[in-house]
Amino acid sequence: MSIRPAPSERSLTEMSRDRLRETLAALGEPKYRADQVYKWIFARGVRDFDAMTDVPKALRQKLVEGGYTIGRVYVERVRESVDGTRKVQFRLSDGAAIESVLIPMPGGVFTQCVSSQVGCAMDCQFCYTGKLGLSRHLTAGEIVDQVVTARAAVPPEGRIDHVVYMGMGEPLHNFDAVAESIGSLCDKDGVALSHKRITVSTSGLVPQIDKLGQTAPVNLAISLNATTNEVRDRVMPVNKRWPIEALLESVRKYPLPPRRKLTFEYVLLGGVNDSDEDARRLLKLLRGMAARVNLIPWNPFSGPAYERPSDERVRAFQRILLNRGLTATVRVTKGLDIDAACGQLGERPAA
Ligand code: SAH
Ligand code: SF4
Repeated sequence: MSIRPAPSERSLTEMSRDRLRETLAALGEPKYRADQVYKWIFARGVRDFDAMTDVPKALRQKLVEGGYTIGRVYVERVRESVDGTRKVQFRLSDGAAIESVLIPMPGGVFTQCVSSQVGCAMDCQFCYTGKLGLSRHLTAGEIVDQVVTARAAVPPEGRIDHVVYMGMGEPLHNFDAVAESIGSLCDKDGVALSHKRITVSTSGLVPQIDKLGQTAPVNLAISLNATTNEVRDRVMPVNKRWPIEALLESVRKYPLPPRRKLTFEYVLLGGVNDSDEDARRLLKLLRGMAARVNLIPWNPFSGPAYERPSDERVRAFQRILLNRGLTATVRVTKGLDIDAACGQLGERPAA
């Protein structure tokens, strides 16, 4: 399969609402019929034409005989962590593997962390997905279908009420599919999320940040991870193209949803970017912005020689930010026991 696969012609899950209407119109069906089918697939999550009880049998048959299918990703395995985090492993139609993480939140709801690519091309030195390199982009249908199919892994009383593009891949490197998937996730007759319940996280592709702001007013998270260009160049090669100043300039212009803050993710790498001086530089960089910082102590995997800083170091770093009025949380590591924590996503080679 090519690095940018074309959406499958016969998968209804790959179709925008308009294309689904055109497809059914070609089969002699009115618009409202396409809307019924759309609801079955995206709102109710059915995978079988026969379950569409208000759709005439003749049409269901036509769809089956025409080779149409529903669904682009197939749940292969669900692993549940002792802390309630669930890692959903999907298989794609070409055999590729991707993962989504469901993070339990107060009130019985879940935040789903979706993948946007198989692997990632950005080569951040501290990230397991980065070490895999990029195999291919996901289609919009494959992104949306992670949310539709993951419902099966949520307890009956729970639901997915936030989607964050923080799984495998750099979402803004796959801009068109990601933008289309945001549109689908917000369709009132489908998954029906609002833009303010969606967050795109990026390593800092500046032109695409500008474009995202003009396309879909979602929340933005920036993986900053360093306070000097010298260190950021080393740990995140993307910085050589768009250094910290250019990144922050574009972020300052980003039109956030009302009353929202920008999130800056900051992976703490022991001895690399976790000094008091770094914390003070971070304050200076973010001065005047509606921002909050999410500190993520580095999650280890076999490979690079980084160190997870001690809890005391993490707290000291956080305190410097808090003392100057900057909201700073430490991301509680969830799902560490099932390799579902940040930066740990990606198929492991068979043991
Ligand atoms: N590619 C996007 C989104 C996916 S990465 C991005 O980089 O923003 C999601 C987050 O995990 C990023 O903030 C990244 O900095 C962080 N991360 C990557 N590897 C990590 C690791 N080993 N430990 C902790 N966080 C990590
Ligand atoms: Fe890609 Fe994000 Fe990992 Fe960097 S941190 S390699 S951009 S997934």
